[in-house]
Amino acid sequence: MSIRKLPNQLIDQIAAGEVVERPASVVKELVENALDAGATVIDIDVQTGGKKRIKITDNGQGITQQDLSMALQRHATSKIQSLDDLESLLSMGFRGEALPSIASVSRFELISRHQDAEMAYQINAHGGEIEGPMPAAHPIGTTIIVSDLFFNTPARRRFMKTDQTEYLRIDELIKRVSLSRFDVTFRLSHNGKMIRNAQGCHSGGDSDILKHQRINQLCGKDFIENAIYMEQERGKLKMSGWVAKPSWNRAQPDRQFFYINNRMIKDKLVGHAIRQAYQDVLFHGRFPAFVLYLDIDPELVDVNVHPTKHEVRFRDSKLVHDFIFGSIHQSLAHTRVGEMSATVT
Ligand code: ADP
Ligand code: MG
Repeated sequence: MSIRKLPNQLIDQIAAGEVVERPASVVKELVENALDAGATVIDIDVQTGGKKRIKITDNGQGITQQDLSMALQRHATSKIQSLDDLESLLSMGFRGEALPSIASVSRFELISRHQDAEMAYQINAHGGEIEGPMPAAHPIGTTIIVSDLFFNTPARRRFMKTDQTEYLRIDELIKRVSLSRFDVTFRLSHNGKMIRNAQGCHSGGDSDILKHQRINQLCGKDFIENAIYMEQERGKLKMSGWVAKPSWNRAQPDRQFFYINNRMIKDKLVGHAIRQAYQDVLFHGRFPAFVLYLDIDPELVDVNVHPTKHEVRFRDSKLVHDFIFGSIHQSLAHTRVGEMSATVT
């Protein structure tokens, strides 16, 4: 067979294989886009575990009519222009891959009104075939509807689990995201029923109370009571959050939330540092619980390791490891001598 250039649609579908594994990955990409657009309220409405339909509405800045068709082009992004931008990146996205990938494996509708525009526009893509932009009705912000995910990629479709399992993945994802941004309201509905409604601090309520409410909703209502609040800073590294006392341990690693610059991360190095900090105070086979936020100069961390951006690479991993280990170890040391009951600030 001679060498041929692949058609665009196929290129998008192949790229989708990396980014769009299941309904929860669609939700992740769309929610991250909404956050990047400065939304303060994000509604996530899914049907049959997201297989039939995923609808996400935000009140962010919206997309202009000209940009609507660009948004569905491969490697088209408003978030970076050069490699330098990547070094100082704080946005969730930057690869310009999510929308074209999702649109190539679903029936896709995007309706948006830009904050400076008089009206809204809609663009549709059915398995990559594009229709629009055409005038539509929508307040400032964006709605994206993804129906019949993987309708044209049967292999992927078969890999989806039951509705309930796919729904639980979405729920887990929304939990994780909603702990990353207390200033944003997240609402999640499944099959027409509102399941989660996490009110954001943007709406004026007492932010500490809202924060604690949200953490307790997601981690269990006695988590905060049994956790130590910590804040540590060293040079360009800053970490804050809650570490559960060793007595409040878990049989599963199901209460572990770690964020780097507001991005949820599952990183080996981070995991190792935390485990080590708990090593002497936790029984073998039990897992610690924590909600931790690491702020680090974006130049010192590379998030462009994998398309899903779950993993990171640190410029100085020993420094980060020692900092995380040291901070947690120190906080836990207080509990051992019994000087400190759950200090919640
Ligand atoms: P990336 O997020 O990596 O830039 P995406 O494919 O996810 O790539 O999105 C492409 C572009 O579409 C974004 O750069 C952004 O300009 C625009 N966009 C996507 N979703 C939204 C949204 N909810 N609100 C405003 N703009 C959006
Ligand atoms: Mg994106």
